[in-house]
Amino acid sequence: MFEPTGSQRDAASTIFNLSDYRVIDAFEVPGRARRVEVEPTSPPGCPACGVISVRVHSRRLQRIRDVPVAGALEVVWCKRRWFCDEQRCGRGTFAESTLQVPPRARSTVRLRAQLVAAVIDSERAVSETARVRTHVELDVLRGALDEMRASLHETAVFSAADVQFHEIVMAISGNRLAESIARVLFERARDSARYRGNVPLSFHEQTLREHEQVFAAIEAGTIDAAGQAMNAHIIDSWQRRRPPDHQGKTPRR
Ligand SMILES: [Zn+2]
Ligand SMILES: [Zn+2]
Repeated sequence: MFEPTGSQRDAASTIFNLSDYRVIDAFEVPGRARRVEVEPTSPPGCPACGVISVRVHSRRLQRIRDVPVAGALEVVWCKRRWFCDEQRCGRGTFAESTLQVPPRARSTVRLRAQLVAAVIDSERAVSETARVRTHVELDVLRGALDEMRASLHETAVFSAADVQFHEIVMAISGNRLAESIARVLFERARDSARYRGNVPLSFHEQTLREHEQVFAAIEAGTIDAAGQAMNAHIIDSWQRRRPPDHQGKTPRR
């Protein structure tokens, strides 16, 4: 369906709200996240000469990582290659890109911003926790760690205990706002586990080791070490749980 360029977007695009993109399809894949297919709203300018392209050369699908919208989503960009028809330009063809997903990027700018915010909030919270925690609170946190140790072979239980550990850290620090960001971050990690099917045991063992370091620093009351350990853990676990890239295929339509 074509619409004139203007302020009015279709309902799905308005809800998804990724600037420069429209939603062209959305459906449910049994046992996986809902899938949303998007494409840029306007034809791009050639990166060499700036002339707006009008002819599509080819299309392929590329999965992009994005923030959850009312839960986890699998976002697929129906990415076009365009001809540059400008006579004096030697470019030939070029792939489209946007401000939200620059050339060669695999995730949206808004997702990166959310991750950075989550890292900063978590580091701040864990430092505060290392400073103020009581013995009773330490016991509660140790309980979540024990739960992780006991469930290394059960992904769902392990992930829930992992999230719980982070939420306890946030709660002890008194940071309620960051609590919801941690949840969003780990919802996404759980979702990527769903794509992969079986999460390798080594992932869980590594995650547990990182949590043990965070806990040891909180227990010792070493504020800087707690912040560093949490920082390293969030960034590492984010990398480890990256969903596999979508292999380019011709879009069905
Ligand atoms: Zn050109
Ligand atoms: Zn964790």
